[in-house]
Amino acid sequence: AAPDQHDVERTLVLVKPDGVRRGLSGEVLRRIEAKGYTLAAVELKQATTELLAAHYAEHEGKPFYAPLVEFMLSGPTLAVVAEGQGVIPGFRSLAGATNPTEAAPGTIRGDLGRDWGLKVQQNLVHGSDSPESAAREIGLWFPGL
Ligand code: ADP
Ligand code: MG
Repeated sequence: AAPDQHDVERTLVLVKPDGVRRGLSGEVLRRIEAKGYTLAAVELKQATTELLAAHYAEHEGKPFYAPLVEFMLSGPTLAVVAEGQGVIPGFRSLAGATNPTEAAPGTIRGDLGRDWGLKVQQNLVHGSDSPESAAREIGLWFPGL
C-alpha cells in the first residue's frame, strides 16, 4: 500500500462480559459493519483462566490484572474477527479511550460506557493494538482460523 494507505488486515474484537450482559453485542457489530469493515468470525465464548493469562500476558503483575481476569471470567464474551483496510487502528478509534469516562462521545466506550466504581476494566470492548497483537490474539481465540 502507498505510505498514506492502510493495508487490508484483521483484528480481534471482544465484546467483554459487561457488554454481552447489557445486550450491546449487536450494537458493537453494527458499528463495525457501519464503518465498512466485514465480519470474518463471530463466536460467543466463555473465557478460561488459561486463555486470559495468554491474552493479557503483557499486563501480568499490574494492580488491575487480577480484577480484570475475574471480570473477564464473569460471563460469556463475544469474540469477533473484523477485516478491512486499517481495521486495527480503525477499531481502536471506534472503541475510544480505555477509561469510558475519558472516551470521546461518538466512540463505543464514550457513548455506552462509564466507570463502575473504580472498575475501569468494565469498558465494553477489546481491540488488538498492532498487527503482531492481532495475529497472536486471533490465534488464541480462534485456533485454526
Ligand atoms: P486497552 O483495552 O484500551 O488496550 P490496556 O491494554 O491498557 O487498554 O488494558 C487492558 C484492559 O485492562 C483495559 O481494557 C481495561 O479493561 C483494563 N484496565 C487497564 N487499565 C486499567 C486500570 N487502571 N484499572 C482497571 N482496569 C484497567
Ligand atoms: Mg490493550
